[in-house]
Amino acid sequence: MKEKTISQLSIGLAAKEFSSKELTQMFLERIKKFNPLLNAFITVTNDVALVQAQAADRRRQQGLAGPLTGIPIAQKDIFCTNGVRTSCGSRMLDCFIAPYNATVVEKLNAVGMVMLGKTNMDEFAMGSSNENSFYGPVKNPWDLDTVPGGSSGGSAAAVAAWLAPAATATDTGGSIRQPAALCGLTGIKPTYGLVSRWGMIAYASSLDQGGPLAHTAEDCAFLLSAMAGFDPRDSTSIDRPIPDYVNTIKQPLEGLRIGLPKEYFSDGLDNAVAHTVEIAIDQYQKLGARIREISLPNSHLAIPAYYVIAPAECSSNLARFDGVRYGHRCNSPKDLLDLYTRSRTQGFGDEVKRRILVGTFALSAGYYDAYYLKAQQIRRLISDDFQRAFEYIDVIAGPTSPTVAFNLGERVDDPIKMYLSDMYTIAVNLAGLPGLSLPVGFVGKHPVGLQLIGNYFTEGRLLNVAHRYQQVTDWHARVPNEFT
Ligand code: GLN
Repeated sequence: MKEKTISQLSIGLAAKEFSSKELTQMFLERIKKFNPLLNAFITVTNDVALVQAQAADRRRQQGLAGPLTGIPIAQKDIFCTNGVRTSCGSRMLDCFIAPYNATVVEKLNAVGMVMLGKTNMDEFAMGSSNENSFYGPVKNPWDLDTVPGGSSGGSAAAVAAWLAPAATATDTGGSIRQPAALCGLTGIKPTYGLVSRWGMIAYASSLDQGGPLAHTAEDCAFLLSAMAGFDPRDSTSIDRPIPDYVNTIKQPLEGLRIGLPKEYFSDGLDNAVAHTVEIAIDQYQKLGARIREISLPNSHLAIPAYYVIAPAECSSNLARFDGVRYGHRCNSPKDLLDLYTRSRTQGFGDEVKRRILVGTFALSAGYYDAYYLKAQQIRRLISDDFQRAFEYIDVIAGPTSPTVAFNLGERVDDPIKMYLSDMYTIAVNLAGLPGLSLPVGFVGKHPVGLQLIGNYFTEGRLLNVAHRYQQVTDWHARVPNEFT
C-alpha cells in the first residue's frame, strides 16, 4: 500500500488486495508518526476518515465503486468541510466549524474519497513559504531546514512525505505549482472557472482556482475529472462538459510545439535550476516535441500588477471577518469600533494586514485610477502576450520557481524577495490560463519543477504532456529518505 500512486491504489482496491479501511489506517498511522516533524496538518479527521473508508468498502462490495472510491485525500484548510474546523491558516477562523461542504469537497465525497484531514497553509493563502500560518511553518520533507513552498505547503508536504496519496490545493498566484515544484510533486492549476470556488474561502476572487496536488499527472487527471464541473452556486463557474482527462493522457507528443519564453530564462533564475530545466526540455525533444524560443514581453509586469489586484480583492473579501459576521471576536469590547478594531488586530497576522492596507489604499478615491485601473490594463497586456504566443505554439515550458526550496526564515523579512518566488507562475493567474508543474530533477537534495502553460481548457493536453515525460523518467517516484 505504501508509496503507491492513486492509479496503483485503485487497482489494489479493485483486486481486493487491501480494503479502504486498511489503506486509511495506514495513512492515519503515518500522519501520527510524521506530522509532528512536518506540521503538514492543522486538523486530522480520524473519525470522519474511518467512517468514509467503511462506506467506501461497502460501496465496493455492492459493485458501485469508481476509480477514486476508497482512496484517501487531504483537504487544504481553505475548503469548507461540514462539521470540521476550517481555519484557512488564520487565528481569525481558529474556531470556525463550517456548516457545509465546499463543492470540491462534495464532489470528492460523491466519488467516495476519504478525507484524512485539513492541511496547513499560509494565512488566507497569502504566502510562498507557508511561514504565514497561524499554526506555524510547515517543513519540506526533502530537507527539514527548508520551506515546502506556499500557500499550499501543508498539502505539498503531506503528499511528498506520503502522509496522503494526494491533496487538494488552491492557486491564486502559484500556490499549487510552486509547492509542487519545491516538494517534487505534480500539480495543476486549471483554467479559471473550471473548478468551483463555492465554499473555498476567497482570497482574490478573480484569480483563485482550486486543483489537485499528487505524485503523477495521471493521478492529477483522475482527481481533476472529479473536481471540475459547472456549479450554479459559483457565478464564475463555466458551463461546459468536463472530459475524462485520464482518457487522453497517453497521446504521443510527436509534433507538439513547445515555446520557451526568453523572459523566463534570464535574470533571477538560479543556474542549476536553469540547467535542470534545459535537460527536461531535451527530453521533450527526444519525445518528438519541437522547441522554439518565444517572447512574453510584459512578464516583468506580472508581479507588480498582481500585488495591486490581489490585495485590492483581498481587502474587500476579508472585510467580512469583523467579529460580528464572521471570525474571532475580542473580549469585552467597549463599543462597536473597539470590537471591530481589536477583533481584526488580533485575528489577522502581519502579511494579511499588510495586504489589506495595500489593497484598501489602491482602491481608495484618487488612487484607484493610478493603481487598480493600471494593474487591470497590465493584466490585459499579459493576457494578450499569451494569446499571441498560442497562435504558433501549443504549450509554454519553463521553470516553475526561480530557485529550489529556500531555508526557513530566509525571506520572511524581505517581502519583495518572497514575492519574487512566484515570478513565473503569477502571469498565468492574471490571464486565467491553466498551468501545471511536474518534477524534472534535483539540485542537491532539492526537487526542481518544470512549468507547462497551455491555452484555456487545455488541461487534458497539459496532463498528457506531463504524463508522457513521466513514462520515461522517474523523478516523480522518488521518496525523501526520512519518510520511506
Ligand atoms: N505566493 C502568492 C501570494 O503570496 C500566491 C499565493 C497563492 O497562490 N495563493 O499571494
